[in-house]
Amino acid sequence: MNKKILVTGGAGYIGTHTCIALHAAGYDIVVYDNLSNSSREAINRVSTLIGQSIDFIEGDIRDAESLRQVFSAHQFFGVIHFAGLKAVGESVAQPLKYYDNNVSGTITLLEVMSEYDVKNLVFSSSATVYGDPERLPIDENSPRSCTNPYGQSKLTVEHILEDLAVSDASWNLIPLRYFNPVGAHPSGQIGEDPNDIPNNLMPYISQVAVGKLEKLSIFGNDYPTTDGTGVRDFIHVTDLAQGHVAALNYLESQTRTAKTDSIGFLPINLGTGKGTSVLELVAAFSKVSEQDIPYQFADRRAGDIASCYASADKAKDLLKWQAELSIAEMCQDTWRWQSMNPNGYNAT
Ligand code: NAD
Ligand code: UDP
Repeated sequence: MNKKILVTGGAGYIGTHTCIALHAAGYDIVVYDNLSNSSREAINRVSTLIGQSIDFIEGDIRDAESLRQVFSAHQFFGVIHFAGLKAVGESVAQPLKYYDNNVSGTITLLEVMSEYDVKNLVFSSSATVYGDPERLPIDENSPRSCTNPYGQSKLTVEHILEDLAVSDASWNLIPLRYFNPVGAHPSGQIGEDPNDIPNNLMPYISQVAVGKLEKLSIFGNDYPTTDGTGVRDFIHVTDLAQGHVAALNYLESQTRTAKTDSIGFLPINLGTGKGTSVLELVAAFSKVSEQDIPYQFADRRAGDIASCYASADKAKDLLKWQAELSIAEMCQDTWRWQSMNPNGYNAT
């Protein structure tokens, strides 16, 4: 029988791509999402892509009763926990909302998992937990610190997971620390669909390319990098999705054999290990889309760091996973999604 996975936040950007990868890998999935930052249309499109209707429940991770109903109705092998809020600026303005969703919501989820003796969790963490890194590439033992409530909420959840693993050795908890997810499904049917003006670089570039936004502002050209602009480790969302399948496979293999009692708390970076500057990404996007991307240099954005890229060795060693797709493919797939869906999931 296929193993069944609860995917919280499975209607979102990374969640939808991961649902497709999980289905292809033979997992059964149940998606639980309150649609606060996603739409039913995303779920419909995933259903079309996988050729079967997704088992979808509209619900909030802070609602223990609703979660209990889901856990009563299904026997889960584990949970992939994407549900959460992710806008750094909004988290500064509304910290309570972020701690409530991301921290309280996760505690409620963990409590219900515990009640139903489901102890396998893959959690969406972020490279933001490393703050301004002391050394590059960033490995999993690097010191952690955060400067905004969003980052703090991720770091707090990591601390909670660590404490949980110490308290009870039957938990298997894998926080995956994502670097910069970009790109879209190669079909052009699903992708990132920001509500307002995008905060992140790739969706901003693609909206300039498609003519929705006039000009990109590049935040800082005086960083100590090759061309003065910020350097990030961009990773294709379908590679990232595959990383979740690899984490689950690892979890399954470890818990099946008597080699270890449990995994405990096992943080793993998901990145490519390569840094790309803002200007390099703009040039790559312009090339594949054959569009001009007008830009201007602007002041540095508060809280930004110069360079951030992963050591991807642990994922390779333990999960036997590594990112495959190039910057050109990330741009190509983003462009396909953006040009096929200029208004995202709403009104095509
Ligand atoms: P997203 O907003 O597209 O997806 C998150 C999903 O969670 C949405 O569908 C939203 O409706 C749902 N959700 C939010 N609060 C919920 C709640 N209380 N109950 C139920 N559902 C809820 O974001 P994404 O880019 O797919 O990110 C997924 C996860 O990965 C998030 O936890 C995010 O913080 C983390 N992450 C994202 C990035 C990134 O750059 N996209 C980087 C690092 C980490
Ligand atoms: N960036 C930019 N203009 C934008 C958005 C982002 O110059 O409109 C830069 C930002 O300063 C950083 C890089 O692009 O150097 C990646 O930013 P993003 O918000 O996508 O991800 P972050 O790494 O900050 O989470």
